[in-house]
Amino acid sequence: MSDQPIEELERRCPRLGSPISFRYCLMSGEDDFVCWKVLDCWWETFDVEGYLKNNMPESVFKELMAKADQPKNKISSIIEIIEKVKKK
Ligand code: SF4
Repeated sequence: MSDQPIEELERRCPRLGSPISFRYCLMSGEDDFVCWKVLDCWWETFDVEGYLKNNMPESVFKELMAKADQPKNKISSIIEIIEKVKKK
């Protein structure tokens, strides 16, 4: 990994279909909270779980982990994939 600040790392967002920075992911969820897909999207790039754990209050981190594990989010992912396929 380069010396680039983590917040400036970029990837293609599966929800928007365009490149975004990690900074965007930190505030693109409900009520400007972290996007619930942040672990799925970034775990291959860097230790995103460790980053979040070190940079947010423990209670907020636990809330995020709980959201990430909710089955409804898996259903939302499936719906997103179906919508993408329909657009093609
Ligand atoms: S974490 Fe959310 S905003 Fe960031 S790339 Fe993934 S889906 Fe997009």
